[in-house]
Amino acid sequence: MQNTIAEGGCACGAIRHRVSGRPSNTMICHCRTCRRVAASPVVAWLTFPIAQFQLLAGQPSVFHSSQPVRRTFCGSCGTPLTYEHADSPGSVDVTTCSLDSPGAFPPTHHSWLSHAVGWVRFGDGLPTFQQWRDDKAV
Ligand SMILES: [Zn+2]
Ligand SMILES: [Zn+2]
Repeated sequence: MQNTIAEGGCACGAIRHRVSGRPSNTMICHCRTCRRVAASPVVAWLTFPIAQFQLLAGQPSVFHSSQPVRRTFCGSCGTPLTYEHADSPGSVDVTTCSLDSPGAFPPTHHSWLSHAVGWVRFGDGLPTFQQWRDDKAV
């Protein structure tokens, strides 16, 4: 896994951002909220300490998918960009595939299989969890 700087942004280029260092978590989320927000069967996420995330250009739009959850996206092209939860003010999740080199950040597991759409089959052999990963089980 990379321990350097990676840049990315939205599809139209209005928003650019940068992450640095090693993500504390890298996973594929099957939850129904991510699915709807991205209109995609799954969404891959990287978690970083907030200090390791930097907005370089543009101003993302904000959507609260629930009271404590703040999601950002590009208001022009709609690309989902970040997820922040009020209970974890020190960290931010960044959509892996908003980065220019998503291949550098392979996921380690799948979360929220309890919400899975049902016809997705990865066959990647990664651990799966009904909800969030139980850190003790990994
Ligand atoms: Zn855009
Ligand atoms: Zn999710």
